[in-house]
Amino acid sequence: NSNRQDKEKETNVQVLLRCRPLTDDEQKSNVPKVITCNDSKREVTVASKQVDRLFTFDKVFGPKAQQRSIYDQAITPIVREVLDGFNCTVFAYGQTGTGKTYTMEGGMRNKGGELPVEAGIIPRAVRQIFDTLEAENADYSMKVTFSELYNEEITDLLAPEDHLKFTEEKQKKPISLMEDGKGSVIVRGLEEESVYSANEIYSLLERGAARRRTADTLLNKRSSRSHSIFTITVHIKETTIGDEELIKCGKLNLVDLAGSENIFRSGAREARAREAGEINKSLLTLGRVINALVEHSVHIPYRDSKLTRLLRDSLGGKTKTCIIATISPSAHCLEETLSTLDYAYRAK
Ligand code: ADP
Ligand code: MG
Repeated sequence: NSNRQDKEKETNVQVLLRCRPLTDDEQKSNVPKVITCNDSKREVTVASKQVDRLFTFDKVFGPKAQQRSIYDQAITPIVREVLDGFNCTVFAYGQTGTGKTYTMEGGMRNKGGELPVEAGIIPRAVRQIFDTLEAENADYSMKVTFSELYNEEITDLLAPEDHLKFTEEKQKKPISLMEDGKGSVIVRGLEEESVYSANEIYSLLERGAARRRTADTLLNKRSSRSHSIFTITVHIKETTIGDEELIKCGKLNLVDLAGSENIFRSGAREARAREAGEINKSLLTLGRVINALVEHSVHIPYRDSKLTRLLRDSLGGKTKTCIIATISPSAHCLEETLSTLDYAYRAK
């Protein structure tokens, strides 16, 4: 089957670059731009004092790119894989303030069934999954989890309100990870909500996202240091010849990563950042796991962080991974932008 061979030759890690527009404030104060995107050539140019640097990615989305075009070009095929029974993961990676949450969540309120133009990947994926299953008249069930990983600890964003206190000392029952010995992980204590409609998922999402924002104001800049992981698991019943029942199971993880600032510091700065708890173990390990996967290494260091353990059955092998690296066009972000571009480029 040549189709299958082609598929195997394709790389399973796709790296996209998105540059946000200057904000109104940045425009008002005439912040200089240092980024030029050429979407059709898939190129990003960084103007710096010495020499311009050029990076190429699988896809490039400049400041004018709409939420919808990113979804249609990059995510639609991934969701199709999920509905075919594969596990897939989409990450948003980048400095705080560059559009990770905008890209993943965007505007979620759906008015009269229509998605707003600012709707990000999560609401669009939910919509595509329901639309496809309904159109195929499929016999399916769906579950979602929404969690946050902060300081290597998992918090359930969907847990009943009164159980949840966003103070470090008062946590609900701890959520723990256990390997099942078959390459998957069992998450204990994480609420799995069965969902029956897109609207139901939207309200769960809003609940979780609001909780993340509350935590953010209580704990200084928590969201910039935490990862949020939204997971949809779909079971689809298929009937095969001879009355044998077959169940297809696919999983989609949509991950809004912690801000990438602080992770690539050297020497004394790193030591200080480490002491301040600013070096994010999961973010660092994710980079190593992705590099190992891209280089087809024998040892993939999944076990070195909670995030990579949590996503183990959805990273590598037959799974598809999409990394959306987000950057700001502003000259003030130059150093972090270069670090994001280098990180993303290495993941290719
Ligand atoms: P992050 O999650 O990476 O910290 P946000 O998603 O919160 O960043 O984005 C920072 C700000 O920039 C928000 O006000 C967001 O609405 C805006 N923004 C980000 N990306 C875009 C974009 N592509 N188009 C318009 N506004 C954007
Ligand atoms: Mg954010």
